[in-house]
Amino acid sequence: MERIKLGISTCLVGEKVRYDGGHKWDPFLTDTLGQYVEYVPVCPEVECGFGIPREPLRLIGDSQRPHLVTSRTNHDHTERMLQWSRKRVMELKRENLCGFIFKSGSPSSGMERVKVYDANGIPAKNGVGIFARVFMDQFPLLPVEDDGRLKDPKIRENFIERIFTLERWRRVGEGMRNLIAFHTQHKLLILSHSPKHYQMMGRLVAWSKEMPWKDVHKEYERLLLEALSLKTTPKKNANVLQHVMGYFKEELSADEKRELQEIIDLFRKGTVPLIVPITLLNHYVRKYGQPYLKEQYFLHPHPLELQLRNHV
Ligand code: SF4
Repeated sequence: MERIKLGISTCLVGEKVRYDGGHKWDPFLTDTLGQYVEYVPVCPEVECGFGIPREPLRLIGDSQRPHLVTSRTNHDHTERMLQWSRKRVMELKRENLCGFIFKSGSPSSGMERVKVYDANGIPAKNGVGIFARVFMDQFPLLPVEDDGRLKDPKIRENFIERIFTLERWRRVGEGMRNLIAFHTQHKLLILSHSPKHYQMMGRLVAWSKEMPWKDVHKEYERLLLEALSLKTTPKKNANVLQHVMGYFKEELSADEKRELQEIIDLFRKGTVPLIVPITLLNHYVRKYGQPYLKEQYFLHPHPLELQLRNHV
């Protein structure tokens, strides 16, 4: 598989670009996820021309349209940063990124809950970094996360599933046959995120012969990104597991069915992680050679080494 292209805040890969000459290296991002990813580092403050070291910046004023100012001398750099961000985002469009990992809390790079100071110098954590906002406005459906949120196993799993799926989608060749193959392989994965999108995408694929390819492609991509942005839940996953179990009606003995049902119920209650029923189902898929299930990405959406389904 080709590496997944992701934007990332430069300090997270260990570059000493912070205002104090330090970095915010995140070993998971470079050493583990980094095996599957090609990063495009972006440091708005350095690339915009502020030096290292530099006076720290902060956001002030209205949280929807904050100003970016130096924290001690109060110089306003909002316009400079906005202009640079718009230009840089246009360059990033050509990179065909599958997502972006931002540095949390930064007035330039933070994607949410960035401190915005009022006239009395009191901060409220309700802002978005200037560059991050321009980026997210330009690519509203692209998967984005920050290093802090990615520490949460569920958020991490969802983000990584989305970028792997988007990378596979980007490699789908032109023509309905390719789109149908992609859709078939991702049906259960889509269902685990959104039964509603599962139905809408099924209808789109069914009617696609009547529509120009470009329109189908665009609409399918929109629905896919929208579906994946909706989080899976134990209930949604358990329903899909139950659906998969239905494929083994003939093959499994009464005792095997009971055991599988018990494991799905334990997962639903949060006693065992998703990897447990998935491993047993994959064992049956391999044993009975179920061709439709064999190619379902729901059963193997990303490399096992990332250990993403091991949490409850
Ligand atoms: S948070 Fe953003 S602006 Fe600050 S050092 Fe990291 S990449 Fe640069």
